[in-house]
Parts: sequence; C-alpha cells; structure tokens
Amino acid sequence: MKRTNTFEVRPRSESDEALLQEVMDATASFWNELTYARRQQFFDDESIWETDEFRGQYKGQLGAAGVQTVTRKNNAAWNSFFALLESGEDASPPGYWGNADDGRDLRLFVRNDSYEIQWGEHSRVEIPVGQDLKDEYHMGYFERLRLEVRGDPKWSGEQGELEIQYDEVEDTYRAYQPVTIDESELDSPLASEEAALDLGVNNLVACTTTTGEQYLYDGEELFEQFRSTTEEIARLSCKLPPDQDTSQRIRRLYRKRSRQRTHAQKDLIRDLVERLYDEGIATVYFGDLTGVIKTQPSPEINEKLENFWAFKKFIDQLQSVCEEHGIAVEEESEAWTSQTCPECGEQTDTVRHRETLTCPCGFEGHSDLTASETFLRRNTDKQVRPMARPVRFQWGNHEWRSTTDAPELGTNPNEQRTNP
Ligand SMILES: [Zn+2]
Repeated sequence: MKRTNTFEVRPRSESDEALLQEVMDATASFWNELTYARRQQFFDDESIWETDEFRGQYKGQLGAAGVQTVTRKNNAAWNSFFALLESGEDASPPGYWGNADDGRDLRLFVRNDSYEIQWGEHSRVEIPVGQDLKDEYHMGYFERLRLEVRGDPKWSGEQGELEIQYDEVEDTYRAYQPVTIDESELDSPLASEEAALDLGVNNLVACTTTTGEQYLYDGEELFEQFRSTTEEIARLSCKLPPDQDTSQRIRRLYRKRSRQRTHAQKDLIRDLVERLYDEGIATVYFGDLTGVIKTQPSPEINEKLENFWAFKKFIDQLQSVCEEHGIAVEEESEAWTSQTCPECGEQTDTVRHRETLTCPCGFEGHSDLTASETFLRRNTDKQVRPMARPVRFQWGNHEWRSTTDAPELGTNPNEQRTNP
C-alpha cells in the first residue's frame, strides 16, 4: 500500500537557498532540453531514445543519480505517451516545465536511495548535489544539501522517490514523499464513520460527519482574490495593440490566478481529509453540482462554477487524497437536500435566504451545513451523533483558518470553534 507524506522544507541560509534553486533550475533545464530534443526526433519520425548527449552536461550540477532520475522520469513520460498513441487515444507528447516567458516550473526528484530524512525535533532532509556545485558552494566531497523539515510524517515505511516543488506564489518548497506501508499499519479497524459534503460556490465545502462534526470552508475571500486578478487581466487586455491578443504579463496573471486557486484547493482537501481521517471516517459522500446550477441560474454563479472552482479537478484531487488515506468516496444524488427541513422533512415551503434555511415549522439553520447533514442522513445507515458547534474556515494568508478570534482553551488556534 502506498501513502504520501507531505511537508514543507526550508533552506537554512540564503546560500543554501541559492544552491537549491540552482539544482532545481538545472533539473528543469535538463528536462526541457531532453524534451526538446526528443520532440524534434519524434516529429522527424526518428527514434527518441538516442539522447545521451545531455547526461555529461548536467552531471556536475545534479550528480550521476540526479541525471539518471530525470532521464527515467522523462522516459516514463514518453512511454506513457506512446502507450496512449498505441491504444488509439488522442495524446500529445510530453511537454516542458514552464517556458521562457513565464519562467520554469521548479521541482526536484530525489531517488529513494539517495536521500535521508531524520524526523524529530530537528527534522531535516539531506539531498545530493553534483560535484561542480559542491565546489562552487565550498562543500565537502561527502557533504549534502541539508534542508529543514517542517511538519510531521503521517506514514512510515519504505521510502520512495522524493519530490520537492517550489511554489512561486507562496515562495515555499513543498516535499512529497511516497512510502510503502505495511497493510497492518493501515486504516484503523475503528474507521467506520461516514461524512457528507455539500459543495457550493460561496461556501466551497460544507461537511457533516456521523461523529457530529461540522466544517464549513468559506470561499468568499478566495473568490475576491480570483476576481481581482480577472479584472486586472481584462484591464490589460483592453490596452493591447490591435494585432496582439495576449502579452507576457497577461499570461503570467492567468498562471498566477490558477496557481492560487489550485493551491487553495489542494490545501482545503488536505485539511479536510486529515480531519476526516482523524474522526475515523471510512466513507465520504458528495453530490454533483447540477442541483446548484438549476436552483441558481445566474451568470455570476456560472462564472464561479466553471472558471473559479474547477469542480472536476477538485473531485479528482479529493478522490486521490481520500484514497491515500484509505477513505472511500461515493457520488450520490443531492436532489432536494438543500431545501429539506431536517426537523419535519418539508421540502417545498422552506426558504433559503443567503446562509439561512427557514421552515414554517420553526426550524432555522445554516443552509449549507443543514444540506450536508440532510445529505448525510439520507445516505448513511449509521447513527448520526448530535452536532457539535460547526468550525468555519476562511482562506487567508495562504492557509485555511478558523474565522473566530477567541481560541478555546486547549484547541489548536487553526481550528477554533464558532457559533453557527
Ligand atoms: Zn420544518
């Protein structure tokens, strides 16, 4: 069974950071040059496998193992491309990591036997660099680049290839470490609880669990950020000369916009799935968004749904992170859940106004949280425990934070409880 540890790594000094950037930059150059050569050969109908000339060139920066790893990754990308072609699918050959205008995508792969992580109070990871860079940075022959590790590993087991990515927007380095774990270490036998998600546009996710937890991820701040970048793109587009339909700055803004969204989405999923995992959730239900589109057909909602929220990508990611944690994901019909009163079952006479659902029977509650609760009760066979106070999260400062000010004693400041 494979699982992935995610954590942040930090260079310990400016010089270490410069070195790390050089290694990542050389990795991207190598990838791009190799890809360019192979694309030429492919389009000229030649074999792509005779591309040894770059290996020597990058060995001084990446070391022999580093060169081998990038080559193997590139081989794998071409092999899957050829496999797709063979099965008659529409595929395009492997592409570049970034481009000259927007800069390169900086990432780094380290073979499983060439790095070492020490966990504990002074957690760190050591990665190899090539001899030329060692000389340039006055490192000893056996020395490696040492990075600080922030965070705790969730999984232990046989380590796989480490990937480090540089996030330009947040100016951070994230590491992904696949580990192969023992089946017996897997999901606790206690994990049998269930959760339901109500996905929306103003509140991105409302979640209710059978253990009585409720989480609400508010999308307003994030959407504002998205909208202001969109406006800037529109403003710049108006100023373009008539023969030009884009510019370097506009492309950069598009990239920034989607990176910000992707980053917030990834973080939301990690945050949520880790909470669910800790609650012992074994199954998560989610509905499709057709209900939302039908009940609120407005151009603004459609903009949010299609451009901003990238729903399909979100679901794909949710599935993969849940799978990583041994949680099953099931799609179910969401019809009427958003209008149903949890107290009396009324569906037609209830009223949704902004964040509140009210019913003639006297019920009044948060509309999205209520919907997720109704959705859960409809799908689960389990007993649903009484609800604790919901926790509301808002995107700000690159992470999902609870929006209340006063932390309760003994709770993590990131998950303070709030009144509905
Ligand atoms: Zn009612």
